[in-house]
Amino acid sequence: MKLAYCSHCGMPVEFDTRRRTFTMDYEGRRYAYSARQAVCKRCGSDATYPPYQEEAGIAFNNAVRDSEGLVSLDVVREIPKRYAIGKRPLSRVLGLGEHTYSQLMNGQTPSKEHSLLIQRVYDDPLYYRSLLETGKDLVGQSSYERSMRALEAYLRNDYSNAYRLYELARIFVFKAGGDITKTALQKLVYYTQGFSAAMLGTRCVDTTPRAWAMGPVYGQLWFEYDSSVTGYFAYHEGEDCPSPFTAEEDEIIDAVWQSFGCYSGSALSKMTHKETPWLAARRRGNACEGESSSESIRQEDMDSFFKGVVERYSMVDATDISRYADAAFQESLL
Ligand SMILES: [Zn+2]
Repeated sequence: MKLAYCSHCGMPVEFDTRRRTFTMDYEGRRYAYSARQAVCKRCGSDATYPPYQEEAGIAFNNAVRDSEGLVSLDVVREIPKRYAIGKRPLSRVLGLGEHTYSQLMNGQTPSKEHSLLIQRVYDDPLYYRSLLETGKDLVGQSSYERSMRALEAYLRNDYSNAYRLYELARIFVFKAGGDITKTALQKLVYYTQGFSAAMLGTRCVDTTPRAWAMGPVYGQLWFEYDSSVTGYFAYHEGEDCPSPFTAEEDEIIDAVWQSFGCYSGSALSKMTHKETPWLAARRRGNACEGESSSESIRQEDMDSFFKGVVERYSMVDATDISRYADAAFQESLL
């Protein structure tokens, strides 16, 4: 039988389980979180049951991370599994202290800097690959090979969406003749995803954007765009840019370009700042204006928002998207 320790009774006791909301102050802020609590069956006092204490610790930790825009514990724990690498070799690959990743796996709150690094390794498998290549000698041949195999499998299967994400971005780069900012590019991808889901019932890309301060951002595209050593996104005049998308999807892509392509990155950011999917994610992440947040924009929020837009503006074909672009721009000036 499982027993908890009751300090009132001064002995191990049988207990009931209650779910309770706790609040805790930490570095000048108050955090609320929910976890299970053991209650002594003899006297009704709170009793100590280590697994629940651990659960409460993790819940508190996550509450702090959410509000600070730090990487979640789920992400921290997912990485060694996804990339088939031990905690120590992973620490070395990331350039962290030998035991740092173990501590993070156990729920320790990462620094902002470590958090960004880990989130990026999660969002951007190609970045992880570059770190693994560089750190090859630090992890040993067999760890390196095992992780590389897992990574390749991941890139082939679950990561095939990224290919469409990158291809879509590349199409916009070419439509712009190479003259496009990273911020604008992100928003064009975002609108394409939103309108393709609402008008075609399928998403051109199936990657989740995050609610960064500047609006919706696809982290892996953001980083890949920077680190693309092969010049994948580079525009070359006269070069062909074939589309892997269907004719219907191409119409949406073209309409998004015609409708939104004339605006600057910051104008597009302002438009998305008025839209509910980004606003809802910012609220969930308790992010103040301009504050960084890695909160995901929910797919269902995007779906209902863009379906609403399609209805409100009586859109029947892709070219009607311009009606929303015009209105959203006017709105963003208010
Ligand atoms: Zn008791």
